[in-house]
Amino acid sequence: MTAAPPSLDRRQAEALDAADPLAALRERFVFARGGPLYLDGNSLGRLPRATAERLERTVRDGWGEGLISSWDEWIGWPVRVGDRLAAAVLGARPGEVAVADSTTVNFYRLAVAALDGRRERRTIVTDRANFPTDRYVLEGLARDRGLEIRWLDPDPIAGPQPGEVAAVLDGDVALVTLSHVNYRSAAIADLPAITALAHDAGALTLWDLSHSGGSVPVELEAAGADLAVGCTYKYLNGGPGAPAYLYVRRTLQERLRNPVQGWFGQREQFLMGPRYEPRPGIGAWLVGTPSVLGLAAVEEGVSLIEEAGLAAIRAKGIALTELAITLLDAWLGPLGGALGSPRAAAHRGAHVAVRHPAAERLCRELIAQGVIPDFRQPDSIRMGLSPLTTRFVDVWDGFERLRALLA
Ligand SMILES: *Cc1c(COP(=O)(O)O)cnc(C)c1O
Repeated sequence: MTAAPPSLDRRQAEALDAADPLAALRERFVFARGGPLYLDGNSLGRLPRATAERLERTVRDGWGEGLISSWDEWIGWPVRVGDRLAAAVLGARPGEVAVADSTTVNFYRLAVAALDGRRERRTIVTDRANFPTDRYVLEGLARDRGLEIRWLDPDPIAGPQPGEVAAVLDGDVALVTLSHVNYRSAAIADLPAITALAHDAGALTLWDLSHSGGSVPVELEAAGADLAVGCTYKYLNGGPGAPAYLYVRRTLQERLRNPVQGWFGQREQFLMGPRYEPRPGIGAWLVGTPSVLGLAAVEEGVSLIEEAGLAAIRAKGIALTELAITLLDAWLGPLGGALGSPRAAAHRGAHVAVRHPAAERLCRELIAQGVIPDFRQPDSIRMGLSPLTTRFVDVWDGFERLRALLA
């Protein structure tokens, strides 16, 4: 069995690792001895060593010894961790981000808040390639409220373009909601341009940042974005089921209303008063008791992002995906593989989709050999190249295995 000789020597990948300014940070994560070649950090990021210690401490000292009195400290964590995330990852200001609940629940709450804020309008704009949970939530809202969804049907690789959004905007659109980085192709939507177009039409925007937060810089304040949500267990390494974040632009925090009037959003929460009166600021957007252990884990993940700096993370994400595309073109192209992600680095997040008719079987075989990417219907293998924890040789080895399987 023969295949085209490697067009790119593994030593070149080794040289890239040797010159990688983020290489040392990789040692701050747990790598099990004999563990898999993991190319799925965009689904579940790796465990930071500090997180294991922090969780143990929080359980033993905070819970075990401090018991209820630890809430004096814990109660501030959703906003404290939110502030760190705002500065390090989201380009938002202090007091605009909170960490609690799940992405899906936060997405629902912020979508309702936006729709209630534009009650005279009856239309939602989103795209058919958007992440399933977002689409399902919007379908339910549209059904319950008798609203119309205008579905964009963009190119599956390039994702929704500003011109396509502009073409469906009019005075009836209440909400434009899209993913910043597409979970399938990794296409980056033009968040500033689409936000500006929505605003020109009098609509609000809600961005899902789950696949960009921690891998692609987001500038919510500069873009004038209204609302955003995202999860913390992908590129932020917060761990399975870690709480999500929500962003509400400062000027909207009191103009819009949190549809779930829970006691954590209540002014003078512990007076247990007869009526709901929202806290000022981002506190009004909290609901109920947050996951303290989850918040501790998110904070450790955010610390590592702060230390690395998002500019360096983005630069490495580009370099890793560039190498992946070079190998894909050279090795997999002749064997029926095709790029399912944008070719231009500026339009691409930190994963690469490899399209092949036998993708599902190939993915199973890779996993059987200890290489973990993931499969996305109907024909894509997603190679997630989480910049803090993926080496250039990992990319080389993963593509080499795929080439060998195909040859
Ligand atoms: C991963 C992801 C989610 C996850 O939502 P959960 O409520 O955490 O299950 C939502 N949206 C996007 C775009 C995602 O990539």
